[in-house]
Amino acid sequence: MAEQQRERGVELDNSQFCCAVCLELLKEPVTIHCGHSYCRSCIEGCWDQEKKKGKYSCPQCRETFNSRPALRRNNMLAEVMACSLRRRSPS
Ligand SMILES: [Zn+2]
Ligand SMILES: [Zn+2]
Repeated sequence: MAEQQRERGVELDNSQFCCAVCLELLKEPVTIHCGHSYCRSCIEGCWDQEKKKGKYSCPQCRETFNSRPALRRNNMLAEVMACSLRRRSPS
């Protein structure tokens, strides 16, 4: 699967792989229920602040969750990020 991606060359549209919180490329990408992806530490940080309100929302689409959603690593994104990082650093 990953091999196919590499052969075709994944064209990285940065906006698609940037975290809306820190505006950097996703680090340890996790995808939440609405389909948006963030760095694990960024969304954890957001939700730590929202904890007082007892509601958790997506910083991008504002969809709210009444209970803190479990964060699952997005393996597909993580793989894409790893590939793009390898290509960026020529060492
Ligand atoms: Zn981030
Ligand atoms: Zn969202």
